[in-house]
Amino acid sequence: VNPIYDTNNIFAKIIAGEAPCVKVYEDDLTLAFMDIMPQKDGHVLVVPKEQAVTIYDLSAEAAQACMLTVQKIGKALERAMGVTGSTIFQHNGSSAGQTVGHFHFHVFPGPLLVIKDH
Ligand code: 5GP
Repeated sequence: VNPIYDTNNIFAKIIAGEAPCVKVYEDDLTLAFMDIMPQKDGHVLVVPKEQAVTIYDLSAEAAQACMLTVQKIGKALERAMGVTGSTIFQHNGSSAGQTVGHFHFHVFPGPLLVIKDH
């Protein structure tokens, strides 16, 4: 059983144009915008426009569209930030760290943690 989708979640409002975002890409099925509390420079979120809470709720069409947008964004971030490599992840359910109840991929250039030499 899919989790109940709360239509008042903040990403639903962003998709509806009722809340602001720094948009970086949009097509018929997906939207990409800057994360408001970036874990590092170039932290972008990719969401489907359809109502889905977790990856398990996505339609095949939305899953494909999200993946294609993630590919575009990840490659563009690498180019724009002058790095090779990118980090892509997502959370499913609050117990796994999901805080916004609309499916989203996190995408940013390079690694999450910069490993320092000792
Ligand atoms: P989660 O922990 O659910 O995987 O990630 C939610 C992400 O959404 C967090 O990185 C958080 O900073 C971001 N976020 C939460 N509220 C807003 C908002 O109103 N606007 C934007 N652009 N990002 C948000």
